[in-house]
Amino acid sequence: MIITTISELRNYLHNQRLQGKTVGLVPTMGYLHDGHLSLIRAARKENNVVVVSDFVNPTQFGPNEDFATYPRDIERDAKLATDAGADVIFHPSVEEMYPTDSSTIVEVEGNITKVLCGASRPTHFKGVTTVVSMLFNIVQPDKAYFGQKDAQQAAVLMKMINDLHMNIELITCPIVRESDGLAMSSRNTYLSVEERKQAVVLNQALKAGKDAFEKGEKEASKLVKIISNKINEMPLAEIDYVNILDFPSLAPVSKIEKEVLAAVAVKFGKTRLIDNVIFG
Ligand code: AMP
Repeated sequence: MIITTISELRNYLHNQRLQGKTVGLVPTMGYLHDGHLSLIRAARKENNVVVVSDFVNPTQFGPNEDFATYPRDIERDAKLATDAGADVIFHPSVEEMYPTDSSTIVEVEGNITKVLCGASRPTHFKGVTTVVSMLFNIVQPDKAYFGQKDAQQAAVLMKMINDLHMNIELITCPIVRESDGLAMSSRNTYLSVEERKQAVVLNQALKAGKDAFEKGEKEASKLVKIISNKINEMPLAEIDYVNILDFPSLAPVSKIEKEVLAAVAVKFGKTRLIDNVIFG
């Protein structure tokens, strides 16, 4: 069932809660793939009611980014989400979520939103935390599901939930990959045939970094170099960042002694892809 208004969704969920049902929320920007479906399936197992939001959120895109061209297909999404176990697909308009007089933002300050994607996309995370706060307020889920694919997003949202004392359990699900290792993403549809071939290097480079760590290299800067060199073997790849940070604080690390996030962002033409691995 597709619901497009906040009031209709609230009515539906009110009735479900009166029957004592628990609610799981899976926020997405749509154009669903198996990565999204893995989150929906996880939510299906753990909740009585599963709400999938399908909303291309304008405030998390920078001025020269792909908001206008981001792929959209709500009918296809509704079928895929329902087959994976969703009860409701919440698909509001931009005006429904952001009435013209809306002027409130929710922002997690500090290093955690300034590093990695926060450095290349300075307004991105406040768009994410604002829209996810709205979705949390509208749906009031018991549990909310996010992918490790966007590991920084999960870390930032965890911080927001803790700082604002939100009574929501955040569940992070593993990265789902294509058979050659490329992390699934709605943006993979932008890649040319040659770019798509070379894009496997993100996963290969992160694997090379993790392998070197397991063989004894504990210096973060040396591992960053190994990962960067591997990516640079691909002529069409242009590195945005390669970094290794403490996880989930995203504080800098030099010698790896506990869990870290190795994260990369690489551009192929106009398409920017991200990937990561956690180890240590
Ligand atoms: P998006 O529609 O790209 O905003 O993603 C919606 C949710 O799906 C986010 O929590 C993402 O981290 C998650 N997600 C996207 N791609 C994948 C993937 N390949 N594996 C697992 N989760 C993913």
